[in-house]
Amino acid sequence: MKSPWKVLLAAPLLLLLPFLTSAPAAHDDGPGARPSRGHSCVGCVLVVSVIEQLAQVHNSTVQASMERLCSYLPEKLFLKATCYLVVRTFGPDIIKLLSADMNADVVCHTLKFCHQGPGQPLCHLYPLPKEAWKSTLEKARQIVKKPPPLKYSRGGSDICSLPFLAKVCQEIKRAIKNAVPFRDGDSDNYSVSPTLRGYHWRGRDCNDSDEMAYPGRRPDHWDVHRDSNCNGIWGVDPKDGIPYEKKFCEGSEPRGIVLLGDSAGAHFHIPPEWLTASLMSLKSFFNLPTALTDELDWPQLSGATGFLNATSRIKENSIYLRLRKRNHCNHRDYQNISKNGASSQNLETFLESLSRNPLLDHPAIVIYAMIGNDVCNGKSDPVPEMTTPEQFYSKVMETLKYLNARLPNGSHVILYGLPDGTFLWDNLHNRYHPLGQLNRDVTYGQLYAFLSCLQVSPCSGWMTANETLQTLTSQRAAQLSNTLKKIATSQKFTSFHLYYVDFDFQEIVKKWQKRGGQPWQLLEPVDGFHPNEVASLLLVDGLWDKLRLQWPQVLGKENPFNTQIEQVFGDQGGH
Ligand code: CA
Repeated sequence: MKSPWKVLLAAPLLLLLPFLTSAPAAHDDGPGARPSRGHSCVGCVLVVSVIEQLAQVHNSTVQASMERLCSYLPEKLFLKATCYLVVRTFGPDIIKLLSADMNADVVCHTLKFCHQGPGQPLCHLYPLPKEAWKSTLEKARQIVKKPPPLKYSRGGSDICSLPFLAKVCQEIKRAIKNAVPFRDGDSDNYSVSPTLRGYHWRGRDCNDSDEMAYPGRRPDHWDVHRDSNCNGIWGVDPKDGIPYEKKFCEGSEPRGIVLLGDSAGAHFHIPPEWLTASLMSLKSFFNLPTALTDELDWPQLSGATGFLNATSRIKENSIYLRLRKRNHCNHRDYQNISKNGASSQNLETFLESLSRNPLLDHPAIVIYAMIGNDVCNGKSDPVPEMTTPEQFYSKVMETLKYLNARLPNGSHVILYGLPDGTFLWDNLHNRYHPLGQLNRDVTYGQLYAFLSCLQVSPCSGWMTANETLQTLTSQRAAQLSNTLKKIATSQKFTSFHLYYVDFDFQEIVKKWQKRGGQPWQLLEPVDGFHPNEVASLLLVDGLWDKLRLQWPQVLGKENPFNTQIEQVFGDQGGH
């Protein structure tokens, strides 16, 4: 499907990925969109920086450093092979240029991954070279002497147009097509494999050959003979002949959790080890193939639907794990219907992959959390591209009407407001980006400016030094939040109750500071934009408390049979 394919297309330019997938898709990134020239430039600068820094850290030649980088990559998805091919094509020029003390910006302009069009600003990540830019670039071109192999099409450079990569690109395209990651529509879009929209995203299927067995359904004939809802509870108690589903789950009001979200909800994350030369080793990229086939999202660790233990040392759990703990009958009933770049305006393109049968299934708690892309885009003048309150109102109402027809009676829908993103600049602009830590030469302020200049910033309205623009973005975000609040207080639906909660980042910061933490530790280090795992878990901790105290009906009762379920069924089949 579109998104993973788009990522894999660019797999050779490994580090281009953050910006491919976190760039808002809402406005300019429709189906079949290819990496833009800006993305190629970012990817090139990051990769060349890593090569340069690996040579510095290991006191080795550039050639050895490139081979080292390729040797760290896994074989899967042609990653290692492609890396060697890319080195064979661009390596000799990169060696000549880096050996002549040219930095990554100059290298990538010389190799034409970066391009300054007429009348366009010069985009650079590092401070400009001491000599004039033009003469430096001229010198660099003299060093290389031949035209670079990349060809430009109208949309920008496309690495798949290189003859030796065309075949690899084709192979990957076919693999993705066969995997059918989004099966729209009915119940059987549950899966027994983890990635490509498998059980990392929604509860693991327990019987792949039976379309009528899937997490979240009401048990079929009390699951006397089979586990129709995959919660691990089935069969009959031999002591009294009562089916276990009836005994342990009847009246416990089971329910599932569904997130309708964007990259933040899917937990977009680039491990900093992937681009920090001093931390890089054979172990660094073991999780890269999984991450690529999950669109660089880690829903299995997300605040809403995560089911694995947090990788950071934090005791808070996801909403799903809390619901499961409260009632073991909820085992495996989670769906993370999120997509990088999702907004109120494009949710309809994948909302159909939500699986809930209003007649057969248990009610659901649906969290609607489009927290950024309605105000975030990469345009140099982002304000006209933002969703207006009127557009927002109409799309949210459409979504709610769709949900009203699809959700079982007694469901709950929680609308999440948008945060005020001024904390991004305030907390990060003068800190060093992972790429700038070795030589203290790249701050987040520089990264933000570089991305905005190339028009690939995930949020040029907030990731900017321009305070007026920051304020305008925050104002629009507040207007959209108010629209949600208004909808929640004025609209009624037959199959669900509707609630609104603020996205209060300051509250999370306070909680974190009380534990001795710093605000910047709550943001993703590589993209300098997304809330990280700790922030997401603290956020849902706040939501959980609010629900427990103000709207306990959303969570349902604690199941008094939990201990007995554990005794009879153990881990209920794991996740
Ligand atoms: Ca069952």
